[in-house]
Amino acid sequence: MTSLFDPSAPDRLRADLAAAPGQLLIGGAWHAATGDTIPVLDPANCQPLAKVGAGSAADIDAAVRAARTAFDDGRWSALPPSARQDALLRLAALIDADAEGLALTESLDNGMPYMMARMGGAAGAAAMLRYFAGWATKLGGETITPSWPGEWLGYTRREPVGVVGAITPWTFPLVMAVGKLAAALAAGCTLVLKPAEQAPLSALRLGKLVLEAGIPAGVVNIVTGYGHEAGAALVAHPGVDKISFTGSTAVGQQILRESAASMKRVTLELGGKSPTFIFADADLSRAIPGAAMGIFGNAGQVCAAGSRLYVHEAVFDAVAEGLAERANSLRIGPGLEPGTEMGPLISARQRDRVAGYIEAGRKAGVSLLAGGGTRGGDGYFVEPTILLEPAADLSVTRDEIFGPVLCLMRFGDDDIDALAARGNDSAYGLSSAIWTADITRAHRLANRLRAGTVRINGSGPPDPALPLGGYKASGFGRENGRAGLEIYTELKTVTVSLN
Ligand code: NAD
Repeated sequence: MTSLFDPSAPDRLRADLAAAPGQLLIGGAWHAATGDTIPVLDPANCQPLAKVGAGSAADIDAAVRAARTAFDDGRWSALPPSARQDALLRLAALIDADAEGLALTESLDNGMPYMMARMGGAAGAAAMLRYFAGWATKLGGETITPSWPGEWLGYTRREPVGVVGAITPWTFPLVMAVGKLAAALAAGCTLVLKPAEQAPLSALRLGKLVLEAGIPAGVVNIVTGYGHEAGAALVAHPGVDKISFTGSTAVGQQILRESAASMKRVTLELGGKSPTFIFADADLSRAIPGAAMGIFGNAGQVCAAGSRLYVHEAVFDAVAEGLAERANSLRIGPGLEPGTEMGPLISARQRDRVAGYIEAGRKAGVSLLAGGGTRGGDGYFVEPTILLEPAADLSVTRDEIFGPVLCLMRFGDDDIDALAARGNDSAYGLSSAIWTADITRAHRLANRLRAGTVRINGSGPPDPALPLGGYKASGFGRENGRAGLEIYTELKTVTVSLN
């Protein structure tokens, strides 16, 4: 098999990463963290990969001050919108040029298969920048005539919200960071990015490209560090106007509470326990691989993972057999190994957490259709696992497991309200999927599902133009699309008397 990348590149990359601890990007220059360093492990073999700075509250303060100065003096927000667009397009081109290096970094750091890191990560990040670059010149308000006596002009302006604190998880580190950066910068904001401590390396590589793209000093600052230190300091900092967070619901709730005192604007993209429905008339040749990909892709470490699957009893056995066959044949291995379809989980903690849920299901009497084990030896691998008809009140059915674990359930009649009630029987409401040939039924169910996204008969990778976000405990606000730009703005109303 021809290699998808320069075969000598991973060794060179490992040597570069091991050479010196990653630094912090503050005010357009690289600085050593004032705190200690954080070891970054390769999840495919548990070996040290790099060290990055454990950013402290003092480091966050320096980064927020740099972002504040860069915002207040207008070096970015007062640029002509076309100049902001051009800078974002330059960054997109640099990401394309460095796609192999970024994808190798992401695959080593996060464990995901190389092609996922290349297409979903590097190419996805460039697409995100190009999409939001276009918005920089199109962001505007409305003219509105008030019903006051006499003659009046009223209009609205979209103004950048200010300094953004962006906090991202380890799931898709590059594209998550770039998504926030692209929208915030298109709107004219400046930013302090705090990537996840488990997978911070692609964010630091991105920082180098930000400088190369000529984005002015202080507009983008990157501080690696732990959530309870650097993340918490960013949320508490009075110089930050808005927090844009992607991560767990528990931390999202904490951020919401802590932002209240300073009235920071907050966007939260949180967890999910998303339902998929396969009806008897579905095209199983697409529904089965679709449902399998929906839970085993990125080893189930996907916020929108289809972790609850409801299948009509007429096709239940065929779907169960097809899914088990897929689970048992998936090639599990390091992200850089040719042919790998599913990589490891991010950490020992995550592996043990997922294994704990499977064990709790077993103890509650749930039988396994596939998987259930962890791989011995190196790496944080968990087998693709299918739990057969767990009761609705068990932790495996209710909690976000965030691993390759599917709960497979059946339904007997097609009553849409009853099915929607089962789908909606969750604290979460992030995503959902429907497989059926009956388009009326699909739309009736789509209308009833309390979820930010409904996918009917398939879906592509995340698209920068499609809003993404959750109902209920899955979050606040939407990223991507026009809505995902407007979360980085304040809306101002101006009225003028023409009397
Ligand atoms: P996490 O909440 O533990 O961490 C996410 C980020 O928050 C990290 O950068 C972490 O350092 C930081 N953090 C932790 N504690 C903090 C604190 N007290 N103050 C400020 N920052 C803090 O989540 P995780 O385990 O890294 O990621 C998995 C979660 O992310 C899952 O629940 C998943 O569903 C969710 N997720 C959601 C989406 C979405 O778009 N809705 C996308 C990907 C992942």
